[in-house]
Amino acid sequence: MYDVIVIGAGPAGAVTSKIVSSAGFRTLLLEKNEACRSPCAGYIGNTTELEPLDDAIIQSGIRKMRVYFPDLSFHDFSLNGFVVDRYLFDMELIRNSQSSGTEIRWSSPVSGIISGKVKFCNELACGKIIVGADGVFSRTASIMGLEKQRFAACAQYHLKGIQPLSHICEIFFNSEYAPGGYVWIYPTGKDSAKVGVGVTCPNPRMYLDNFIRCSDVSGRLFGTKTEFITGALPIGGLREKLFFGNILLVGDSAGMADPITGAGIHNAILAGKIAGKTIIDVLEGDDIEQLSRYETKIRRLLGRPLGRSLEKRKKMDSCSNNDLLHEQLPELWVTFKKYWEK
Ligand SMILES: Cc1cc2nc3c(=O)[nH]c(=O)nc-3n(C[C@H](O)[C@H](O)[C@H](O)COP(=O)(O)OP(=O)(O)OC[C@H]3O[C@@H](n4cnc5c(N)ncnc54)[C@H](O)[C@@H]3O)c2cc1C
Repeated sequence: MYDVIVIGAGPAGAVTSKIVSSAGFRTLLLEKNEACRSPCAGYIGNTTELEPLDDAIIQSGIRKMRVYFPDLSFHDFSLNGFVVDRYLFDMELIRNSQSSGTEIRWSSPVSGIISGKVKFCNELACGKIIVGADGVFSRTASIMGLEKQRFAACAQYHLKGIQPLSHICEIFFNSEYAPGGYVWIYPTGKDSAKVGVGVTCPNPRMYLDNFIRCSDVSGRLFGTKTEFITGALPIGGLREKLFFGNILLVGDSAGMADPITGAGIHNAILAGKIAGKTIIDVLEGDDIEQLSRYETKIRRLLGRPLGRSLEKRKKMDSCSNNDLLHEQLPELWVTFKKYWEK
């Protein structure tokens, strides 16, 4: 019998399990893949509280975000953060959790929760508390009978042999190249960058290839493609319910990524910490009812910012052409003052 079973070894699951196992509770972490594999561009702001990271994990420091309107006029915004190698970053979080005592089982996709027992491979494991940290297409949420979340589809190349702007994250808005979303270029070194797109329609790779081949910045993007990934992130906002008896949802599984920017690492880590601390209190007090405090705390912290972003998402959806997008962008994107006015 475990005290806690965590499903999913992304940042939300790694942080939740680390906190709970550090307090001496028996914790099992189940991950469907054989290692961490969350697709990501890897931008993290300096406000995210992390233990010191190994140099190898950080690909570039970031000091500015440059946001391009469809006509390529742009707006600069000071930013303090960094781009990480997402595989190394996640594996580091998992190592921290393991060294605090978490037992981890790779290649262990959870397929069901039957009479309180978690089913994976051909095994059943029993936990007093179960944490669904299994991402945007959360199996845990669907077992709880929740609907699929709305998501943005993403594709990304790692390009080598190009000259990205140093220490600058570039964001391009254009309804032809990125309907409903944007293209990003995040530097990973002097001559390499992650170039990706998130869109609210199918086939993100086609949009990304088009941008790289045909846009007015394509001359800067002739490079060698060393990696290609696809993925999805939730854009439907925070789920209406985050706990079900002894089961919690944390991170993307709970809709904690920002519906406009798509950023989700910060909130996944924040929510993992809140989940972990709440679980410790519940286990020490032996009062499962108190798990509801997790949802109260999360709504207090994330309810407003995610709610505001969801409103912006609805407006962004109606920007069906570049003229509308150009006009409305200052209201829709976080680096503009106007975003914060309404
Ligand atoms: C292309 C792309 C670029 C992004 N760029 C950024 C960025 O630059 N900055 C940022 O902040 N955010 C970014 N995001 C969002 C960010 O990646 C997520 O918000 C973040 O990873 C959420 O963490 P999580 O732990 O909740 O979920 P995830 O990281 O998705 O982890 C979920 C884990 O659960 C596992 N899992 C799923 N189902 C099961 C199952 N049935 N059984 C066991 N395990 C299971 C998965 O394999 C995965 O390891 C990006 C997303 C995408 C797709």
